[in-house]
Amino acid sequence: MTTEIYLDGNATSPVLPAAIAAATCAMGQRYGNPSSSHAAGLSAKALLDQARQCARRLLGVGEGRLMFNSGATEGIQTAVLSALVALRERREQGEAIGSLLVYGATEHKAVPESLAHWNRLLGLNLTLHKLPVNPQGTHDLDALRACASEAALVCTMAANNETGVISDIAGIQSVLEQTGCKAYWMVDCVQALGKLALHLAETRIDYAPFSGHKLYAPKGIGMLYVRAGAPFTPLIVGGGQESAQRSGTENMAGIAALGTVLAALERGDTFRTHAELEDYRARLADALRAALPGIVFNNPFENSLPTTLNFSVPGLASRELMDVFDAAQVRVSSGSACSAAKAAPSYVLDAMQLPLWRSAGAIRMSFGPLTDAAMIDDACRRIARCGAALRAGCLIPSERNGAAHDGLLQMGVEGACSWLVLDAASRSCVLIDPLPDHTARIEAFVRCQNYRVQAILNTMAGQQNGALIEALGRHAASRVSADAYGWPALPDKVTLAGGQSVPALKLGARTLACVVDGAQRHYLLGQAQQGQLAVAAVRFAFSNNQCAPALQGLTGAATLLCPSRDEQNQFCAGAMAAATVCCDSLQLDHAGLNLLLAAHPDALLIDVREDYEYAASATVLPVAGKVQSVPLSRLTEHAADWLATADSTLVFICRSGNRSLKAAQCLRRLGHQHSYSLTGGWALAALAQAA
Ligand code: PLP
Repeated sequence: MTTEIYLDGNATSPVLPAAIAAATCAMGQRYGNPSSSHAAGLSAKALLDQARQCARRLLGVGEGRLMFNSGATEGIQTAVLSALVALRERREQGEAIGSLLVYGATEHKAVPESLAHWNRLLGLNLTLHKLPVNPQGTHDLDALRACASEAALVCTMAANNETGVISDIAGIQSVLEQTGCKAYWMVDCVQALGKLALHLAETRIDYAPFSGHKLYAPKGIGMLYVRAGAPFTPLIVGGGQESAQRSGTENMAGIAALGTVLAALERGDTFRTHAELEDYRARLADALRAALPGIVFNNPFENSLPTTLNFSVPGLASRELMDVFDAAQVRVSSGSACSAAKAAPSYVLDAMQLPLWRSAGAIRMSFGPLTDAAMIDDACRRIARCGAALRAGCLIPSERNGAAHDGLLQMGVEGACSWLVLDAASRSCVLIDPLPDHTARIEAFVRCQNYRVQAILNTMAGQQNGALIEALGRHAASRVSADAYGWPALPDKVTLAGGQSVPALKLGARTLACVVDGAQRHYLLGQAQQGQLAVAAVRFAFSNNQCAPALQGLTGAATLLCPSRDEQNQFCAGAMAAATVCCDSLQLDHAGLNLLLAAHPDALLIDVREDYEYAASATVLPVAGKVQSVPLSRLTEHAADWLATADSTLVFICRSGNRSLKAAQCLRRLGHQHSYSLTGGWALAALAQAA
């Protein structure tokens, strides 16, 4: 089985083997409580002191405090609480403290959230003030200068988690000094640990939080530096551990592991040098440029951590890039890890004023300083394979013609969808309600498959398709004589049920009929016999109103209604469709799948990942039975066939179980009672097999 390549180091890292050994030793042999005065306790205390001394030297904390805690989120809370409590006391004593809590626009969410939380709880009523960044991602120092006299607390980061952009800490310090700013200053150093030299006591930084898991220590261990003389209020009180700065029995396994990582950093014999890491990034960037034409990098390499790349590809959504990389077992993230599930535009890239397509389509590729050249070479090979898969799937411009698709294709974006009706034999197609957001995608697809677009139809009048027509160039049929809905002036007619004769368009063996309904149009697709499109022959109806009375009597029980909006990801609806479907009854775990396959050996396993994921997939998929590939974008076409054999058993599978669940729900809703989804998808199937 192909091993995974982990390129999401800014989210978290694996644990250094020596750190695992140290944690195991702390749990197995040196398990004492460091507060106990017997030998077991003293042994644990020695471990704790050793780790702290190493951290103090490495970070150059001078006379400052350095306490262990659970991670940066806690460190940020403690810093904010400490600063705000001191500000409140100073204000109560009649001192002018400034009115602004200033934070960088690209800070991790933990910072503005903590500021708002403690400002409210402590009743300070200060104003949160977002400090803009420039298009290169560094803080706007003029804007800082302008607000410095009113700043009570300033929060900036040393390096950004999404872009790796390195802040101008010296520049910020000089603005604070030049303006005589009395604000406290917190610098989030999470991404800087092990990648940038830090001499904290030589700066005027008051607070600096760290998280161990960003640099090969486990999750749940972190550190907070507090400058000597900076105000401090403990967040957690109790048994007085950590010199009463952070009570609670210490996380000794975490501290032992983090201490081991810090010792390795101090020795300088474990991690790659800055130059080596820069070389690795350059190699990854070259591989990405070759694989993904038009790629743009969103972070300036000359001022970013050498371990981070952030990029967008025209015409590709971050979800699609994530899926293809994941299929090739290359783990990357879209935007920041927290918003990866939603793939919302990145607020970091928005703050850098990048266009929406870049901030919404961004991928972060990041690695740790333990990475080696062999891993980078392997990553480059897999990137090339992802590029080839996307080209073969016609998602990015391709010189060669892909294998022709046939039937219906649905592209969706934010609830709306574009439909493509394709006839492979004649290499001609019709587009229905194409969305402006899909222009690049449709163009790439049509050119790559060398289709001729017979018509670009809309279900409502007044839609502007000019940009798409222009983009399609010679692939679009002349629309000189098309009406306001894009319907071409053709002499063909077909007779519908009830005897109505309507305009028709031939698409290979299929006929597309146009039903005029006031300001709306409905399009019926089916196989006409001797100029008649009978109810039973209408397989698909395209409409933006599925309940339109005009459709009654023209469509039947077997007709699938293809909506122009699909907020709920229902793909299509049918006359027999149930309103809701219970999720529990259709989800199978791995054991459930095996039982089902034993009972129904002819069950059809349907992989609903897109073609390009299938093509990029490095492994033989770990499941018994025969697997058929039907991408979700072509579910509607196939649903019609599966419904015709309603006693068959269908098991849908995808990468993580989300898309397969939607597919199984769709089939159940349409009346197919034996459709299931494999929970956790291929990701968990692989784990179950490995176990
Ligand atoms: N600050 C930055 C820059 C981060 O990248 C992260 C984690 O993603 C945090 C703070 C929060 O760290 P943790 O979740 O370990 O508490």
